[in-house]
Amino acid sequence: MSQSNDNNREQIRAERHQQRQQKLKAAVDAKIAEARDERGVLMVITGNGKGKSTAGFGTVARAVGHGKKAAVVQFIKGGWECGERNLLQQVGVPFVVMNTGFTWETQNREQDIAACEQTWLPAEQMLADPSIDLVLLDELTYMVAYHYLDVERVLTALKNRPKHQHVIITGRGCHRAIIELADTVSEVQSVKHAFEAGVKAQPGFDY
Ligand code: ATP
Ligand code: MG
Repeated sequence: MSQSNDNNREQIRAERHQQRQQKLKAAVDAKIAEARDERGVLMVITGNGKGKSTAGFGTVARAVGHGKKAAVVQFIKGGWECGERNLLQQVGVPFVVMNTGFTWETQNREQDIAACEQTWLPAEQMLADPSIDLVLLDELTYMVAYHYLDVERVLTALKNRPKHQHVIITGRGCHRAIIELADTVSEVQSVKHAFEAGVKAQPGFDY
């Protein structure tokens, strides 16, 4: 194979690449020009893979980094101290945790419902507070799936929230009505998880 043949081939590749990129840029520019609305986005991050809560907290960090006001409500009583909470409380992010009742190994339904109610009330207040730019409702999906919280109450609070307020809901098995109302829905799929290979949950990585 001669050197000049190689050079020719490389030149054709480069030209094709440039043409493709030009087309792509034109399509993206047209989409950007079309997207003019600025309003609060309801996002759902669901599915069985790892990365839902961390994506929610990543967006909270993003908001805080822009000087926005964010608030977090966690609908699961974790067995462990949550790293995000330690950090976000230092920068004045209101952070409510369901600290009684519900755990992954839930047993007492009545107690769980009471704990859910106690945790939902501050969430509802946040969803009515125009000074809050972003609300993260971490693991809310389970409250609806377990029928601890009526989906209509959740939908009403979401629909009536301030126009500019973003909301992120995380958790597996999100109710269809919430997915239908949402603007952005991502499903995190599990391809592999270290836990299945015997790696335990570690602070600073898993919580
Ligand atoms: P993360 O908080 O790491 O973003 P997540 O919010 O997507 O995870 P949850 O369903 O809330 O996942 O589970 C919380 C805990 O369970 C985390 O410690 C996480 O590492 C672990 N976990 C998440 N997905 C899986 C999975 N597919 N297999 C085993 N453990 C998982
Ligand atoms: Mg989670």
